[in-house]
Amino acid sequence: MHHAVARLRAERIARSEKPFLARGCKAVRCPECRLAVSHCLCAWRPQVEACSGVSLLMHDVEALKPSNTGWLIADVVRDTSAFGWSRVEVDQRLLALLDDPQWQPYLVFPGEYAAPERVVSEVCTTEGKRPLFVLLDATWSEARKMFRKSPYLDRFPVLSLQPEQISRYRLRRSKRDDHFCTAEVAAMCLELAGDGRAAEALNAYLDVFSQHYLASKAPRAVDLNDPLHERLQTFL
Ligand SMILES: [Zn+2]
Repeated sequence: MHHAVARLRAERIARSEKPFLARGCKAVRCPECRLAVSHCLCAWRPQVEACSGVSLLMHDVEALKPSNTGWLIADVVRDTSAFGWSRVEVDQRLLALLDDPQWQPYLVFPGEYAAPERVVSEVCTTEGKRPLFVLLDATWSEARKMFRKSPYLDRFPVLSLQPEQISRYRLRRSKRDDHFCTAEVAAMCLELAGDGRAAEALNAYLDVFSQHYLASKAPRAVDLNDPLHERLQTFL
């Protein structure tokens, strides 16, 4: 089990009464990267350092979805933790992490949903602390519910990504829509925290993952020498 999201996924599978059937589940999947073995991504995992940490609070089946991108964050950012979210109970390991003095937690969420005095748009940790980005990994409606019903997060600043940063990001990535997956949000947080190289690696990795994922469903082969792979190659 190479990282926190893989562990959470295994725990979730062990708890389920009936198997979670991802679409296209007939394909033989690589247990490490979850993609079809014919489109395995394992040789493409970036090796970068990051000062920041990420903590993923994952809604019920999120860890089981093959398309989940929290997994990619855990591949890139060494200090990634992952916890299943529940309305009725909170994982004690999460509470311990939030109290760990080496971290300055930021709950990443749109500012308009939080009390104005909690909202920040920059990452400025105090001496000796590292930023810990708490991301709610869920659909948008689930995430709003998680935001409202997690009182143990109420004491932390809400990091709200600014329109300027979002549009810069969108331009650079030639993205047409405003929907960002969890890995993209994490990349923007890393950039804000000065972990620019890790942010770039995560974006490059996400692009290659998306390409492999879609090609495996088609199914069609991928060109391992195309510009996307070439860019990712610089982080291996
Ligand atoms: Zn693999």
